[in-house]
Amino acid sequence: MRTIILVFLLTFYAAAQAQPRQSLVPGGIAIIDLDQNDSSGFQFRGKPVLVTPIDGIPRAIVGLPLSLKAGEYFIEKRSDNHVHKKYFTVIDKKYSVQHITITDKRKVNPYASDMDRILAEKKRKQKARVHYSKTGGDVDLLQPVNGIRSDSFGRRRMFNEQPRRPHSGMDFAAANGTPVVTPSAGTVIETGDFFFSGNLIYIDHGQGLISMFAHLSEINVSLGERVEKGQIVGKVGATGRVTGPHLHWSLGLNGTWIDPSLFLSARDE
Ligand SMILES: [Zn+2]
Repeated sequence: MRTIILVFLLTFYAAAQAQPRQSLVPGGIAIIDLDQNDSSGFQFRGKPVLVTPIDGIPRAIVGLPLSLKAGEYFIEKRSDNHVHKKYFTVIDKKYSVQHITITDKRKVNPYASDMDRILAEKKRKQKARVHYSKTGGDVDLLQPVNGIRSDSFGRRRMFNEQPRRPHSGMDFAAANGTPVVTPSAGTVIETGDFFFSGNLIYIDHGQGLISMFAHLSEINVSLGERVEKGQIVGKVGATGRVTGPHLHWSLGLNGTWIDPSLFLSARDE
């Protein structure tokens, strides 16, 4: 009887630890075991990969772009006379189409006078997405808001029946003003009121792991600020291109957006 209770407790404890789950598809992550004495300096397509110990083993966690084709890939480490490669195989995934109706038509077909602003913001967003700092490596992330999760990451999108880029994050339905917390510690590397994303915040968690929050009603941090895991950084809102109040959370890894749900505990459905 005691053994049974212990097993129960251990299972529960393991489930509470939100360790990332491997998903070898475009928009997913590869988790690759490394040798204790050879775990640093690996790259994927020219970008340094995040390495962190999980269950005592150093593991590379590699972001796989949504645009990646099925096939064999590798992370590599180059030294003077040697290239060390670790291979993994990516399979295809078909993401479904999502039809969205936006009443503010200007957010779907911007005016010519909006284009300078949109292009300048696009550059700032690209720069924030590929930001890299060496410290960090926490991958046991908190869900950033108390809300209902949607599984819309990667879905191909039609706004007012016009094709747009696939959904690069996950949405949580939550009331206007619900607090948003940072899933891990980090530094605020970009923030402002953007045309499509509304009030947004980018947080650098280190080793190429980046959070982006969009459509906020309120921003409670400033550029360059250091934030602690679980700290309130903003409030849920409906700014930018939206149908209603929700939190959009994008998670970047080695310069590419990946499915944030792989870092949250699996749902029991
Ligand atoms: Zn979204």
